[in-house]
Amino acid sequence: MTIDLEDWAREKGVKYFMVSFTDLFGAQRAKLVPAQAIAEMQGEGAGFAGFATWLDLTPAHPDMLAVPDPSAVTQLPWKPEVAWVPANCVMEGAPVDHAPRNVLIRQVEAARSMGLSVKSGIEAEFFLMTPDGAAISDEYDTAEKPCYDQQAVMRRYDVIAEIGDYMLEMGWGLYQADHEDANGQFEMNWDFDDVLVTADRHSFFKFMVKSVAEKHGLRATFMPKPVKGLTGNGAHAHVSVWDADGKTNLFTDGTHDLGMSDTGWHFLGGIMKHASALAAITNPTVNSYKRINAPRTSSGATWAPNSVTWTGNNRTHMVRVPGPGRFELRLPDGAANPYLMQAVMIAAGLSGIATKADPGKRLDIDMYQNGHTVTDAPRLPLNLLDALRAYDADTALKDAMGTEFSAAFMKLKHDEWNSFVSHFSRWERENTLDI
Ligand code: ADP
Ligand code: MG
Ligand code: MG
Ligand code: MG
Ligand code: MG
Repeated sequence: MTIDLEDWAREKGVKYFMVSFTDLFGAQRAKLVPAQAIAEMQGEGAGFAGFATWLDLTPAHPDMLAVPDPSAVTQLPWKPEVAWVPANCVMEGAPVDHAPRNVLIRQVEAARSMGLSVKSGIEAEFFLMTPDGAAISDEYDTAEKPCYDQQAVMRRYDVIAEIGDYMLEMGWGLYQADHEDANGQFEMNWDFDDVLVTADRHSFFKFMVKSVAEKHGLRATFMPKPVKGLTGNGAHAHVSVWDADGKTNLFTDGTHDLGMSDTGWHFLGGIMKHASALAAITNPTVNSYKRINAPRTSSGATWAPNSVTWTGNNRTHMVRVPGPGRFELRLPDGAANPYLMQAVMIAAGLSGIATKADPGKRLDIDMYQNGHTVTDAPRLPLNLLDALRAYDADTALKDAMGTEFSAAFMKLKHDEWNSFVSHFSRWERENTLDI
């Protein structure tokens, strides 16, 4: 039964709806719509000038309408008179093909047409910084190995527990929170669910963490590598493949290594085959490539991959199969678009199933110590341009993600890369002035 947002607002004491969509660069865009006006917008959508956001639209395009998905409406626990509701972008009666939530919905439908559904859990690491973003906020958080630091996590208890209370209140199944491997870095874990639910929660989590941090006079960042020399912000994805109604996990039946079924094996094969291309989406910024391929961090390990390899319960590879029933893709980072990263994993996985892709043999070595001995595994892209070119060259993945989406994404991301390389940097002056 569809929730009537106007009735719901009356019942919950909600004054404003934040009708929100996510653009290609992962930015959330919203209009505040008073409860008195939501009935019409629930049907028609809220109007936006699409060109004003990171979508491939011109100023001459007609209005884009963001139609709320009432099944995902969420009252802001820190401001209960406001409710956030993710929306699907529509123009002249048709979905905007390249809008990220639509891209993910298409992949969910593609899986369903093969009798499958996909579930995932995301580990969205973040740093708590000073308000100007220049330094980590806790000057005493300086340990060389700060992971699970008991004293440091308690110095940020007020922030972490406030976020945790909200997650519990919303029924997400928060089960742990800790200080992560970089000074100033934290992680909070909640239960996996259907990919669209997880993508909405991942989006809301970023919004909530930033909002609560601001309330406490801090700045939260999910930037892939916000501090040189420290471990970066990953957004590891744990993924499993189920029957269409999500009742039976089809990833495992004992057929292949680590218990994988044919479905699981070929899905993983697709991830391996398309890894360099999908990095353009899971690692979508210039800064992303300072997290993967990074030199050793001060804690001793980057915890990020640099090659296309998979393994059992070993955190030095791109894919880890921690136990039967799922795999963990350790590639995505904090800049990944919550909708597109799920979509591209499904697109790669389903294409793997369709082509019976073979992930190859698992590797059990310590990639940080002995990665140089592996000669037959592709290196992950070294920078954003490499990744964009790999995506552009992967016709199967581009088609599976949608040709209109792929063209729009390529165009905006190449523009962004061009803007980056045309920026005159201090490094150039320091290294070239006296040449
Ligand atoms: P890690 O050991 O990688 O740090 P975490 O406990 O931080 O793992 O995160 C694990 C994530 O994987 C959680 O979101 C959890 O709900 C999710 N998860 C567990 N089992 C499955 C599964 N079968 N399918 C998808 N996600 C799963
Ligand atoms: Mg106006
Ligand atoms: Mg974790
Ligand atoms: Mg972690
Ligand atoms: Mg992990």
